[in-house]
Order: sequence, then C-alpha cells, then structure tokens
Amino acid sequence: MRSRFRQIIEEACWEILPERQPLYVVFGSEAPRDLICSDALGYCARHLDMALRGHLEKRWAGRGPAMILNDRAAFHFVKAARSGRPVIHWRRELLRAAVHELAHIVSRPLLPGELDDNLPRAEEKIKCLRACCSLTTPPAIETPCPWENHSADFIRIAQHAGHRMQSAVGFFLPREWVNTRDYGLDSGEWKYQTALGNEPERLAVVPLSEIVHIPPPVQFIELWRSDCRAWFQSLHSPTAEQSAALVRGLK
Ligand SMILES: [Zn+2]
Repeated sequence: MRSRFRQIIEEACWEILPERQPLYVVFGSEAPRDLICSDALGYCARHLDMALRGHLEKRWAGRGPAMILNDRAAFHFVKAARSGRPVIHWRRELLRAAVHELAHIVSRPLLPGELDDNLPRAEEKIKCLRACCSLTTPPAIETPCPWENHSADFIRIAQHAGHRMQSAVGFFLPREWVNTRDYGLDSGEWKYQTALGNEPERLAVVPLSEIVHIPPPVQFIELWRSDCRAWFQSLHSPTAEQSAALVRGLK
C-alpha cells in the first residue's frame, strides 16, 4: 500500500510540475537511514536526487528535484492524534507534506549545479546533507525573520499546488495545508486563501512555475505586508538584518 501511494504522489507531482521532470518522491521507510530527517514530515534539498541515486536504481532518469516524505513519522503523528480513519489522515499528512515540498521546489531558484550529472562534484554537498540528517536536533538556521523561507510567493504557490494536488489524486487535503502562523504571521491560512479568492481555479492551466510572474490579487499582497509589518512592530530592538528582511517582505 505504501509504495503504491508513494507512486500516486510522485505521478501527481509530475502532472502538477511537468516542467521539472524527473521529480523523485521517496518515502522515509524505503530511504537510506542516513538521509532521513527524523524531526520533519518531509524535506527537499538541492542534490538530494544525487544522494538518492543509488537507492533509486531503475527509477533514476537523470537529475531532478527530490523529496523524502517521512511516512513512518506521519503514521506516528496520526496515531498520537487518535483520529478516526487513520489511513485517510495518514495520506492527508503525506499529501500535505508533498505540497509543502513542491512549493519549495517551485519557489527556490534553480542553480546551474543542480543539473550537473557529475557525482564527485556533488559529493561534498551530499556529505553535508547526511551530516545534517544525522543530528537529533537540527542546527538552528540563522534567519533574520521566521518567514524567511516561507514567503508570500511560497504561500501562494503552495495554495495553487494544493488545489492541483487534490484534483490530480482525487483526494482531499486538510482544509488548511500551510500553517502560516508557524512562520510568525498573524493571519491564519484561511485568510490567505480568502485573499487569493478563485485564483487557483482561474490560473489552473498556467504552469506552476509561472504563477509568480503574474501579479497576485491586491488583497493577498496587502495581507502579507500587514503581517510583515506586525511582526516588525513586535520586535523590541530590530537588528539591521531584521530591517532588511522587512524591506524584502514589503517588496
Ligand atoms: Zn518549509
């Protein structure tokens, strides 16, 4: 059942993001142990595909984005929540994690080295990735603000990716699939969904990677900016980096 569901998610990602194929989805239960980040339901990283190359074997079709979804952690999460219909909730958690990683893949710029098929050149980066996964407590990533890697573009793409994922797999996500409050934003995700309005349906045929080139609805960007300002105003003595982060956020 697990491998079939992994395949369903991977095929849905291909359908949603055909411009970034091949895209690899690997479940934690089948991944090399030294590549599992125990504290995360899912993660993606540059060069993760190269780190997984030996494991992928016949599935390998060249360089492409990869994500590991921690199916065991999702199972324990659902079990601890004692929710009814655990299989459905387990699937939802994994789909939610896949949508999150998909939004990261789309919203981060593709670097030339990411297409380089030369294993020795990627080895140093793979070593860092393994070292990071081996830590029980991941290193605190120094970011000037809590939403640094989960910007307005990320939230918007995740909303589009979530809508597309639901129609690709014919399966519902939880009502909210990006917890915006986790990133220090005052507004809950439903407010961002309301501000986007019917944009996910309206732009359903636009490639996911091109959405960012289309201006978002004014109310969406105003909501984002007001959350950025509220975060900044909550700081007692903002640093220069935090001021710069606010300027980036208000752009
Ligand atoms: Zn993230």
